[in-house]
Amino acid sequence: MLSGPSGAGKNTVLNATMQLRDDLVYSVSATTRPRRPHEVDGVDYFFLSPETFQAKAREGEFLEWAEFCGYNYGTPRSFVTENLKKGYVVVMDVDIQGAKQIKRRMPDAVFTFLLPPTITELESRLRGRHTETDDAINRRMSAAYEELRVGIDYDYAVVNDQVDTAAQQLSSIITAEQCRVTRTDYFVLMQEILGKEGQQQ
Ligand code: ADP
Ligand code: 5GP
Repeated sequence: MLSGPSGAGKNTVLNATMQLRDDLVYSVSATTRPRRPHEVDGVDYFFLSPETFQAKAREGEFLEWAEFCGYNYGTPRSFVTENLKKGYVVVMDVDIQGAKQIKRRMPDAVFTFLLPPTITELESRLRGRHTETDDAINRRMSAAYEELRVGIDYDYAVVNDQVDTAAQQLSSIITAEQCRVTRTDYFVLMQEILGKEGQQQ
C-alpha cells in the first residue's frame, strides 16, 4: 500500500519499482475524476460516472473507497483478492482515508508513505505535471499538510528525491516483508531443511 501527497511521485516510483521485479501487480483504481490527456482507461484508472461509482460502492465492489479533493476513488475488491490468492504482491495507491479502511480489513497489509524531499519541490512537481488547474493544485497542497502528519502511522517512509533510489527502497521493503517469519511457511521450510540434512547423512 502506497500513500503520499499528490505530486510526491507515487505513480512514477511505482512504475519504476514494477520494472525491477516481476512479482508485483498494480491494482487499478476506479475514479470519478476526469481522465488526464495521457491517461488510459483501464490502465491508469477505471474512469466512472458518479452514478456508476456510487452503484458499485453500494454493491460492495470496492475494498475501500474515499473522496479526495472533490472526486471519488476506490479499489476494486475482486482484482485484489484474486491476485493475492495467486501469490502476487498487490500494490495499491490509495489516499490516507483508504489506507485506514484497508488497515481494518487487511491487517497484514504493509503501509508505505512516499514523501517529497521538500514542500517546495512537491508544489513544483504538481505544477510541472500540468494536469491540474491552479485551484485543484491549491486544494492538493492544502491536503498535503494533513497527509504529511498522518504518515507517522505508516510502517515505512520513503523520500522520493531520486526515482531510482526510491524504487530500490520500495522494492527492499517488499523483499523484507516477504522474509518475515510470519509470512513464510516456516514449518514447511524447516521440514525441507531437515529433510535435506537427512538425505545427506
Ligand atoms: P503522484 O502519483 O504522487 O501524484 P506523480 O508520479 O504523478 O505523482 O509525479 C508528479 C510529477 O513529479 C510528475 O510530473 C513526475 O514526472 C515528477 N516526479 C516524480 N518523481 C520525481 C523525482 N524523483 N524527481 C523529479 N520529478 C519527479
Ligand atoms: P490523482 O487524482 O492524483 O490520480 O489521485 C489523487 C489521490 O487519490 C492520491 O492521493 C491517490 O493516492 C488517491 N487514490 C488513488 N486511487 C485510490 C483508491 O483506489 N482509493 C483511495 N482511497 N484513494 C486513491
